[in-house]
Amino acid sequence: MCILYAGEYTTIQPSEEGFSYVITNAGCDPDCPCCRERLTAHDWNRRYERCLDGTVNEYRIEDRYCQKCHKMHRLLPDFLVPHKHYGAEAVEEMVFNDTEQVLEKYPDTANEFTINRFKAWWNAMKPYLLAVAASLAETFGYTSQRLIGFREIIRVTANSCRWTFPTHLVSTPG
Ligand SMILES: [Zn+2]
Repeated sequence: MCILYAGEYTTIQPSEEGFSYVITNAGCDPDCPCCRERLTAHDWNRRYERCLDGTVNEYRIEDRYCQKCHKMHRLLPDFLVPHKHYGAEAVEEMVFNDTEQVLEKYPDTANEFTINRFKAWWNAMKPYLLAVAASLAETFGYTSQRLIGFREIIRVTANSCRWTFPTHLVSTPG
């Protein structure tokens, strides 16, 4: 898996069928995060972005293949979170705000069970993600400033081939 940052991809306007393609911008094709080999085009996959207001956006996301280490890498735009139906904005909102606050803001669409599940996921992931971020900061000299944000932590972990998940909390395959 590779996470594309803002500026590295373009979201094409929804088609008549209602979905958008996420395509890499010129010069922004990622190499294999595991071995740094050039990736080759492979296939398109359907991904959804669920928002807290109840909106669900549909995308086509590219899978690319590494011919050296034989791994498939899904190119996820940074508004999606690996293995989650909810988009990054919704996840950030649920994880970093009080449950009551989120329920008040989205009374018709948010639910306590989902919010608590995301908080549990983040609490389970956080020590690992922060440890990876700290190790990468040491190895590659990232400044701590770059690693403060939720999306940045997720991105550096995924793009260094260190993404993992507590298996009992996984909801979607990639
Ligand atoms: Zn590779």
